[in-house]
Amino acid sequence: MRTDPDLERELVDLAHRFAASEIRPVAPHHDETEEFPLEVIRKAAAVGLTCYDLPEAYGGGGIESVRTQCLIGEELAWGDAPIGSLVASAGFFAGPIVQMGTEEQRRRWIPPLCTSEPMMSALAITEPGAGSDAAAITTTAVRDGDHYVLNGQKTWVSGAPNAGLYLIYATVAPGTRAKGITSFLVQKTDPGFEVGRKLPKMGSRCYPTAELFLRDCRIPADRRIGGEGEGFSGVMRWFEKSRVTLAANSMGIGRAALEVAVDYAKERQAFGRKIHEFQAVSFRLVDAKMKLDQARLLMLHAADLADRGEPFGTEASMAKLAASEAASFAANAAVMTLGSYGYSREYPVEKWLRDAKLEEIYEGTSDIQRLIVARSLFPRPGRSSDGDGRG
Ligand SMILES: Cc1cc2nc3c(=O)[nH]c(=O)nc-3n(C[C@H](O)[C@H](O)[C@H](O)COP(=O)(O)OP(=O)(O)OC[C@H]3O[C@@H](n4cnc5c(N)ncnc54)[C@H](O)[C@@H]3O)c2cc1C
Repeated sequence: MRTDPDLERELVDLAHRFAASEIRPVAPHHDETEEFPLEVIRKAAAVGLTCYDLPEAYGGGGIESVRTQCLIGEELAWGDAPIGSLVASAGFFAGPIVQMGTEEQRRRWIPPLCTSEPMMSALAITEPGAGSDAAAITTTAVRDGDHYVLNGQKTWVSGAPNAGLYLIYATVAPGTRAKGITSFLVQKTDPGFEVGRKLPKMGSRCYPTAELFLRDCRIPADRRIGGEGEGFSGVMRWFEKSRVTLAANSMGIGRAALEVAVDYAKERQAFGRKIHEFQAVSFRLVDAKMKLDQARLLMLHAADLADRGEPFGTEASMAKLAASEAASFAANAAVMTLGSYGYSREYPVEKWLRDAKLEEIYEGTSDIQRLIVARSLFPRPGRSSDGDGRG
């Protein structure tokens, strides 16, 4: 599953060049205005950077190696994490379809994501009353002949306002937690489906996040992905993989912040000296570098296990946890290094601090990642599979 090293280098270089020329220069504008970066996504699609992680049979780039996906993702996030995530968002949505869908479903639903005018997509499990405890969702799906009827509300759905396709998690057996959870494909045009308000947020401002409403939303039964009751285990398996690539997002933010802080510390003078000569400044950046390098090793280790087909769930959680906390530390260190300019919206580092914070929250907060790692230290014999937490 490893990518040929020359091809990997080529792809990572391509991602870096694209991030430097097409993402970094427009990132402040999209942060300030919250304008959706459609033009960047189109350009990324043209050079093969939107669906590189999806199978070639359905129009993707066929890069299966999680390690290579991480290295590409880090470069895109180095340009800008929200735009980089949006560019690569098709893979996040399509993962469970590749994993659990039928051949017919894959052939029908994945290719529209991989065109030069890619259809945007979103994955919705979170509800107002169920985030970390994802098995507590209450959106229902009731079978009615050749259809299912969905009712409920989702929230914090990334990409929801601009998407045409949604992977929605609902229960076919209310009160049974994970056992009833099933995944369904819903189109924006389906009757009874509505995108609600866009949620205002601290960072990741051009990656819009919204509520969804399903009111007697009737969809054909062949839009069910996987069997009834297989949705929870499927999405949790998928999150194991996506947490490794999410760690790469954090690495990109942290690396960008450290680079700017080091450059600044080499130039800025105080008390007649370059500020990096003050150990308070240089040691803070040393700590940032060390935390980022540690996190990168955890990320690459988790990715290598995944590429070898070995279990990697605990390692994925450690990678996401370490990388997100390292990115926040590095971005905070960069803000402190730049002093008042660090706090200025005319410099990028305050934005990176806002973006880094998100990495500690979505797809399982740092507390939930610790919970998952703790399970490997203190396994509970016979633990039920009713989904005790987002993992
Ligand atoms: C910008 C953004 C984008 C998102 N995108 C998506 C998306 O595309 N699709 C989607 O489905 N969801 C998405 N989410 C939702 C996200 O995954 C959840 O917000 C996250 O899992 C936390 O859930 P919560 O907000 O309900 O927090 P809660 O579960 O209410 O947690 C609140 C606090 O309690 C702690 N806590 C809860 N349970 C435990 C426990 N057992 N042990 C220790 N501490 C605990 C948490 O760590 C946290 O500090 C997004 C969220 C954000 C902010």
